Amino acid sequence: MRIETLAVRAGHAPDPSTGAVTTPIYLSSTFEREPDGSYRGGHVYSRTSNPNRSSLELALAALENGAAALAYASGSAATLSVFQALAPGDHVLAPDDAYYGTLRQLREIFGGWGLEAGVVDMTDLDAVERAIRPTTKVVWVETPSNPLVRVVDIERIAELAHSVGARCVVDNTWATPVLQLPLNLGADIVMHSTTKYLGGHSDLLGGALVAKKDDDFVERLRLIQKVGGAVPSPFDCWLLLRGIRTLPWRMRAHCDNAMAVARFLESHDAIDAVHYPGLESHAGHEIAARQMSDFGGMMSIQLRGGEDAALELTRRLTLFTRATSLGGTESLIEHRASVEGPTTLAPVNLLRISVGLEHPDDLIEDLESALN
Ligand SMILES: *Cc1c(COP(=O)(O)O)cnc(C)c1O
Repeated sequence: MRIETLAVRAGHAPDPSTGAVTTPIYLSSTFEREPDGSYRGGHVYSRTSNPNRSSLELALAALENGAAALAYASGSAATLSVFQALAPGDHVLAPDDAYYGTLRQLREIFGGWGLEAGVVDMTDLDAVERAIRPTTKVVWVETPSNPLVRVVDIERIAELAHSVGARCVVDNTWATPVLQLPLNLGADIVMHSTTKYLGGHSDLLGGALVAKKDDDFVERLRLIQKVGGAVPSPFDCWLLLRGIRTLPWRMRAHCDNAMAVARFLESHDAIDAVHYPGLESHAGHEIAARQMSDFGGMMSIQLRGGEDAALELTRRLTLFTRATSLGGTESLIEHRASVEGPTTLAPVNLLRISVGLEHPDDLIEDLESALN
């Protein structure tokens, strides 16, 4: 089935008790036990499972072509649970420009637990090969990456990970399953901040893991999800599934708008660099064209006038809201260096843009008048 159909249909079933076509929100924290000890719908207590979460997890597994999906209260909780499933002495290799919260978890939470972690530029495959150890258990990939919009060859990194028996985990938040299917490229687990494009409306927090095989590691992740309890609320599951229904169509418009904005900015004198994988000038363009079906809605730009010009641009724009996050219907702009603090790799003249679903000509006119 094609992804538009999967997005609409996966996890979709009229409510058995009322016939409601849209699944009701099951706020109940607990479920009645039958006299014989069984449970009618298989649900016992909403931390371990809930009808809304089950529908969502079915949809997530279908979209990513995985065998199992687990939903979490945030993308960060999903990431955390992968590291929690490892043991002291295990080694994690992550990209040097991974989402800064991912790197903070490794440094500030798991360092003290004896998890070893290293970072490397994952666009340099020789460097990745050198950095992998016999004790490496997870090779973390994020592509396109945040905020430098680097593109990493998932197939090659997965091969390197497998050469030492490590799992390749891909943060697929920016690409979404509409543009990129890491499990089909050899990755073992996909991670999402569903807060972003999957939710799509900047109105929920959520995370997900989708695994290619339902193996012992997934069993351990399930234990951490159910016993650890970092689960999303039924309402957030419902909102997220509602967002997923239109994901393929929204992604098309995000990609078209971003390409138009990138082409405009690329030709503007005030702009020093546009980091967008759809541009032929982008270092990762060829890999992106191979492993993605389109180039996404995220880009970053560097201004010739330095940090002051970058900050001034954010103040002059009217259709780009100054805010963190991404993937919603509204365009957002952000000065990453001041958000990420001293450990950032983001240059001070860099702005990250999440191109929304406004008309591209309006976005370009806004940029044009703010830059002139
Ligand atoms: C936002 C984001 C996260 C963290 O997800 P939360 O839902 O904010 O916890 C992780 N990775 C990427 C690429 C993100 O954009």
